[in-house]
Formats: sequence, C-alpha cells, structure tokens
Amino acid sequence: MSAIAMGYPPEIDALREGLDGFLRQEVVSRHERHADLLDNERRLFTDEGRYHPDALALIREVRMAAAQAGYYTMCVPTSLGGAGLGHLAWFAGWERIFHRCSEHHWLGHYAISHWAFGPSAVLTQVSERARAEMLESMMAGRASMCFGMSEPGAGSDAMMMKSRAVPDGDGWRLSGSKIWTTNSPYADYCIVFAVTDPQRAAQRRGGISAFLVPTRAPGFVVERVIRMWGSAGGDEAVLHFDDVRIEPWQLVGERDKGFAIAMLGVNLGRLYNSARAVGQSRWALEKALDHVKVREAFGHPIAEYQGVSFPLAESTMQMHAAHLMCLNAARLLDAGLPARKEVAMTKAFATQMGAQAIDRVIQAHGAMGMTTEMGLTEAWQSLRKVNIADGSNEILRRTIFKELLDGDTDW
Ligand SMILES: Cc1cc2nc3c(=O)[nH]c(=O)nc-3n(C[C@H](O)[C@H](O)[C@H](O)COP(=O)(O)OP(=O)(O)OC[C@H]3O[C@@H](n4cnc5c(N)ncnc54)[C@H](O)[C@@H]3O)c2cc1C
Repeated sequence: MSAIAMGYPPEIDALREGLDGFLRQEVVSRHERHADLLDNERRLFTDEGRYHPDALALIREVRMAAAQAGYYTMCVPTSLGGAGLGHLAWFAGWERIFHRCSEHHWLGHYAISHWAFGPSAVLTQVSERARAEMLESMMAGRASMCFGMSEPGAGSDAMMMKSRAVPDGDGWRLSGSKIWTTNSPYADYCIVFAVTDPQRAAQRRGGISAFLVPTRAPGFVVERVIRMWGSAGGDEAVLHFDDVRIEPWQLVGERDKGFAIAMLGVNLGRLYNSARAVGQSRWALEKALDHVKVREAFGHPIAEYQGVSFPLAESTMQMHAAHLMCLNAARLLDAGLPARKEVAMTKAFATQMGAQAIDRVIQAHGAMGMTTEMGLTEAWQSLRKVNIADGSNEILRRTIFKELLDGDTDW
C-alpha cells in the first residue's frame, strides 16, 4: 500500500532497504550488546558531561562502518570522493534512520554524514593543504568536525558576532567565544566564523570569514558541555578562543564572505530536521497504534474513544502534509531551484508538527508515555530543540514572508 502518488525512484527505495539492513546489523546489535553503557546516562557521560570514551568509540565505529558501506558519504560531492546523491536521497535516508532508530538506537544518527559534523559540500571550500590534512580521515568517519557560528550575544542575528580574527603576519589571531556548538566536545576540527573586517560587518555587508581550526590548536578551549532537559551530558558546548593562531591555509572560502560557507549547509540542515520530524513522528504513531488497540479502560480498548483517536488522526494528517512538503522541497532543490520559501515552510511545519505529534502519542500512553523505556520524551525533546536550531521557526516565518513580499507568491 502506498500513500504517496509520486514515490521514490527504485534506486532510492533500494537505498532505504539497504539502510534497514545496515541499521539492524551495525546499530541495533551494538545497542543490544552495549545496553549497560548506552541506556544508562550515569555511565554514558563523564562528570563533565562528555560521552564516556567507550561510547565515543562506538560512535566512531558506526561512522566508519557506514563509510565502508557507502552510506556515510552518499551525499558528499563526487569531487571529494562521495557518491554525490541529491536532496531526495538525503531526505529519504534520514527519514528512514529516524523512523527505525528514533532516540532508542541513537547510534544510527551517525550513519550518514551530517553536513555540520562530517564531510559535505562545505569541504569543497577548504584549501588544498586542509584537504590533504583532513579529508581522508573525515571521509572514512575517523574524524569529525563542528560548526561554530552562534555566540552568547548573537543567535538568530549572527551578524552580531563578536569573535575577531585580527591580521597577524600572513595569517590571523582568533579570539572570542561560541555557544551551542554541536559535537564540539568531540570534534577534531571546527569551522569558526569570525569578524575579519569590523567596518563591513557593522554595515552588514560581509566582513565575516570562516576558518578551519583543529580543536587541538593551542588556545582552542571547550569551556563546558551544555546540559539540556536535565540530561547528564550532551553534544553542545561553550567554546573559547584565546589568541588562536590561524595560518593562511585555514581560511575557508573567500575572506570576508564566510556566510557563503554557511549557505552550503542550510538546505541540508533544514531537510535533515524535517526528515527527523517525519521519521520520529511515524515511529511514535506506530507505537500509539500498537498501544491503543490493546490498552483497555471502561470495558473497551481505548482506540474506541474519540478523545484518544482523533488527536492521533489529526497528527496523521499533519505528518502526511509534512512528508509531502519534504518530498517536494527535496525535488525542487534537486532541480537546482533555490526553494527558499518551500524549505523554510517545510522545516517550520515539520518540526512543529513533529513535537506535537510525539506529545499526543505520550498522552495516548498515559503515565507509561513518560517513561525512559518508551523513548517518547527523548524524541519529543529532540524535536522541541529543532524548533529553535537551524533557524528558529519564527526566523523561518520571517523568511517565508520576505519571499512573499519579494514577489514569490507561488505556492
Ligand atoms: C540543539 C541545538 C543545537 C545547535 N547547534 C548549533 C551549532 O552547531 N552551531 C551553531 O553555531 N549554533 C547552534 N545552535 C544555535 C542556534 O543556531 C540558535 O539557537 C538559533 O540561531 C537561535 O538563536 P538563539 O538561541 O540565540 O535565540 P535568539 O536569537 O535570542 O531568539 C530568541 C527568540 O526570539 C525569536 N526571534 C529572534 N529574532 C526574531 C525576529 N526578527 N522575529 C521574530 N522572532 C525573533 C527567536 O525565534 C526565539 O524564539 C544550536 C541550537 C540548538 C537548540
């Protein structure tokens, strides 16, 4: 049975099936073998909130196995050695991962290289020397990176950043701070954005450059891991740069045009989060269906009460709409269209819908829905976060309306 008139081409169906096998073999089995570590936050994180070295080793193993199997770099440009698949494959792959793995089998989230943490089109903009230093280890999944844009005083309005790279001989000296930088406590490299021309930056006409900084560089400090939702650790951290020396080969893209680098990942990031919402809400709905058919109250399965079934039907409508929006946005991007409005609409709608859908599934489970063993609250938290990350849903509405005002009134 298919609910989508314009399904995937056979090669993407095959990719999704292949991913299923990979996830069963390399992810689910690892979670089963290492449940003591992976399912217990008190063992999973150190006192400082970092992943335990054994957990980091498992993450690396999954990345490397996925690289071997061809999934990890499937959407990396061919010029870097990837398979160069497009946005539809990107969405299809991530949707499958989040549908099958949700938050219980979270090692699966490392099976495809996320543009900000692994190789992607961003690396087409690094120098020859940088490529020689890091490309092979990044493509093999041994090394990872992070993306340092946001600062304590500059979030939605990234142009307000204060980090500075001041000329020093043929290079620069970097100072400042970053916050919320995902994967930074574990990454080998960070793409750091800093003001290189204060005058142009003040006029909002560029003046910000991107640099590839090894996280082992003297003066690069991971100040602290940020904990969210009462978790014992996390992926995000506060970074501090204390007079870090930057060599000319570390410039990424053109000087003073750093935002062009961020643009290379923006659509991938938004489609990724939309795929996460569609995949996880589908996973949750399936759990709800299993539950409401067998759970009884007042002499009947609770599926018979509209108070239970209508919210789930409502979510199903929204999930279907989000799914179609994702497929459409991915196809527009693959056709080489900018799709700014469509990508913004998709990410805002899908992530909002996703968090609400999981919340409804929690409600349908009663108290059981709040338990860690169900994994529903973790899924809700992850979708709630992406209502802010990667362009908050308000900033996306701003983009949508700006496009309308600029004359893109086609929908
Ligand atoms: C889980 C997670 C991971 C992240 N990972 C990274 C990362 O790897 N690298 C990185 O650089 N950053 C990262 N971020 C930071 C993220 O990019 C910012 O959180 C985001 O840009 C919003 O900035 P802010 O949190 O400072 O909120 P603010 O900009 O302070 O906004 C506060 C509120 O005001 C609203 N708002 C702001 N301006 C407007 C406006 N003009 N109109 C209407 N509403 C407005 C916002 O939508 C929000 O609701 C991450 C964030 C999260 C939550």
